[in-house]
Amino acid sequence: MPQNINKIAVLTSGGDSPGMNAAIRSVVRSCAYMKLQCVAIYRGYQGMIDGDFKEMNARSVNNIINKGGTILKSARCLEFRTPEGRKKGFEQLKKHNVDALVVIGGNGSFAGALKLNEEFNFPVMGIPGTIDNDILGTSYTIGFDTAINTVVEVIDKIRDTASSHNRLFFIEVMGRDVGHIALNAGVGAGAEEILIPEQNLGLDRLLDSLKRSKKSGKSSSIVIVAEGDKTGKNVFELKEYVEEHLPIYDVRVSVLGHMQRGGNPTCFDRVLASRMGVRAVEAILEGKTNYMVGIRDSKLILTPISEAIKAHTEVDEELIRVSDIMTT
Ligand code: ATP
Repeated sequence: MPQNINKIAVLTSGGDSPGMNAAIRSVVRSCAYMKLQCVAIYRGYQGMIDGDFKEMNARSVNNIINKGGTILKSARCLEFRTPEGRKKGFEQLKKHNVDALVVIGGNGSFAGALKLNEEFNFPVMGIPGTIDNDILGTSYTIGFDTAINTVVEVIDKIRDTASSHNRLFFIEVMGRDVGHIALNAGVGAGAEEILIPEQNLGLDRLLDSLKRSKKSGKSSSIVIVAEGDKTGKNVFELKEYVEEHLPIYDVRVSVLGHMQRGGNPTCFDRVLASRMGVRAVEAILEGKTNYMVGIRDSKLILTPISEAIKAHTEVDEELIRVSDIMTT
């Protein structure tokens, strides 16, 4: 164990995701197991700047593995984007004798951690917690599995009512820059079409597909639309467009919104978070810094944060093909 690591801090930052609590629990318990002190920082980087710290022990994280959201709260903090803000944060870390920081969050949170390291040579380790699954260096982020299961459950319910009335539903799901939620939940729930930010299939294809669907005798149709889809129309405009061009359809819209972030994490997310938390603390003790823990082929891997934040993950072409085949 490097001499200089006695106390580790953990925070959650950016958008919350189900499974963050399981990750917090894992970091806290790993510290206890490895005879390290652990301190929690509330409200992300804002709490770091404000000195909102609380000493943790193994019992501080009882009964949270099953809870959605984050007990440490999350925040978006403009001040941490400035060198002055980060200096304040660093001074608080020193004041509380923290030797390394674990950041559970998304790309922005990692960018902040990297700056903290570059400016003050402070050891940082990232754990990917976001429902979007948009971080390079990991096949899964904590919260994604729960989010797609939540979406599938809701679509199943909407399909019940859609088929009772022969309706077409446009369902908007989260995903401004990436369509992983739309694509996975869409295939899982048997959607007729899936509109994602990574590709513009065009409105003609949508109309053709819906015409075919009607002709083939389907009693209902579900179209999943990611927030950032490239048709240039939001779900309400898509409804109007289809009603105008295909009056045979009775069209409804459902925007799922923040419910996609909530709920008890799935077993997959709890296990993933538990594994990543242990690895994050271990990696710090191995003297590693500026890495993000990820998972690939069921194995935990470390990716430099500088790589992880470079770009969004790419769309899964194979899944797009599967979706196309399933809707024939
Ligand atoms: P999500 O993917 O859920 O949006 P995120 O971690 O990407 O999560 P952001 O809002 O982008 O969420 O970032 C969280 C916080 O990280 C910001 O409020 C800010 O305090 C800090 N942060 C983001 N980008 C930077 C940056 N370039 N430099 C310093 N701090 C940053």
